[in-house]
Amino acid sequence: MAKLYFHYATMNAGKTTMLLQASYNYRERGMTTMLLVAGHYRKGDTGLISSRIGLETEAEMFRDGDDLYARVAEHHEHTTVHCIFVDEAQFLEEEQVWQLARIADRLNIPVMCYGLRTDFQGNLFSGSRALLAIADDLREVRTICRCGRKATMVVRLGPDGKVARQGEQVAIGKDVYVSLCRRHWEEEMGRAAPDDFIGFTRG
Ligand SMILES: [Zn+2]
Repeated sequence: MAKLYFHYATMNAGKTTMLLQASYNYRERGMTTMLLVAGHYRKGDTGLISSRIGLETEAEMFRDGDDLYARVAEHHEHTTVHCIFVDEAQFLEEEQVWQLARIADRLNIPVMCYGLRTDFQGNLFSGSRALLAIADDLREVRTICRCGRKATMVVRLGPDGKVARQGEQVAIGKDVYVSLCRRHWEEEMGRAAPDDFIGFTRG
């Protein structure tokens, strides 16, 4: 049976590069893949999935209210789809995660989702919450903090270079995200005293 996968990580862990590589592996073998990316912060009908190391591929976009099961089922009827890849899966709605599960269960197509687990305030995104709850296979994509420990959290730096402690879940613009271990994240967020300070904002 096909499975629903969730590859989760913090920012800049190479999730998108992994996605593009995995899709390429299918296509190299003559198989068809369908790529989806969040359209919430994009205009037009075609999205571009681009990785930090320069790879990019065109993708379809998903937005709130889209029925992903219906879309894939229709596509699959005239062209056999061998695997679905979803980038920025944290932006899926809970119902859309169930639709993806249904694609695995009823159309027998594996669905590989890649996304962030938590936002800069340490809260789960809607899509990530649902994927952590019902995906068959959870895989952590690892990256490291400046201290060398595993990074599981992310801070957002505003245009002034300071760590944002409040605000919208997603900021569009010149904000920069930095992945940190939980300990250094708590220090940057002002929740724990920094006793070995090597960070951005001494508070
Ligand atoms: Zn650290």
